[in-house]
Amino acid sequence: MNCLVTIDGPTGSGKSTVGRLLAKKLQYHYLDTGAMYRAIALAIRRAGMEVQNEEEIGIICSGLDIRFIHEGNSIRTYLGNEDVTVAIREPLIDLMASNVSAIDSVRKVMIRLQRKIASQGPLVAEGRDMGTVVFPEAQHKFYLDASLEVRVNRRFLERQNKGELISREKVKEDLIRRDYQDMNRYLSPLRPARDAKIIDTTKLTPNGVVERIMKDMKIGNNRGM
Ligand code: C5P
Repeated sequence: MNCLVTIDGPTGSGKSTVGRLLAKKLQYHYLDTGAMYRAIALAIRRAGMEVQNEEEIGIICSGLDIRFIHEGNSIRTYLGNEDVTVAIREPLIDLMASNVSAIDSVRKVMIRLQRKIASQGPLVAEGRDMGTVVFPEAQHKFYLDASLEVRVNRRFLERQNKGELISREKVKEDLIRRDYQDMNRYLSPLRPARDAKIIDTTKLTPNGVVERIMKDMKIGNNRGM
């Protein structure tokens, strides 16, 4: 099996920033599995379908072409030939992605695709079930967490920087709702794998978290970049 690092954790725990930095340092590929569920949510929304319509969603999902393409320093998400990188970050997609990710047929298709991507080379895979369900055999598993206030703050600043007019209270409410849903669903609930190292990122910078991860992996910090 290829070198594989899994990073799981709730919203605002720092997974994406840390995952990207780590992948760059290690010169591994980076897989944002949340973007995959978001792309499905976008497709379903555009098709005007209800999330309750599980059977049809499963059929649509197996026909979707979701790809990641490196462009300069960024990784773009494509749905067919369309660059949906920005569209999948719309606030409305947050909860929809969580809703569709609880559907069995959707997860089956995604897991197959995620494993295929991992078979193509060294990978940092980030999501909610990377260490527990998709790659239980991964050598290096991490679970990031942070205090609720810090996670809400990170999310709030992110959305403010995008120019959204939103209250901190609304961000908090949405984050709590989505995490509750992700942690309490029947399929692949968000939780640390038994052999995952848990890192509290509340007081750490992204680089500080990367350092800890690399130390745990017994890799010198002079690697890459
Ligand atoms: O990480 P991100 O916020 O982009 O993920 C969007 C949603 O996709 C999550 O709230 C979660 O419901 C779902 N997801 C998942 N399994 C993953 C990654 C994301 O269920 N591996």
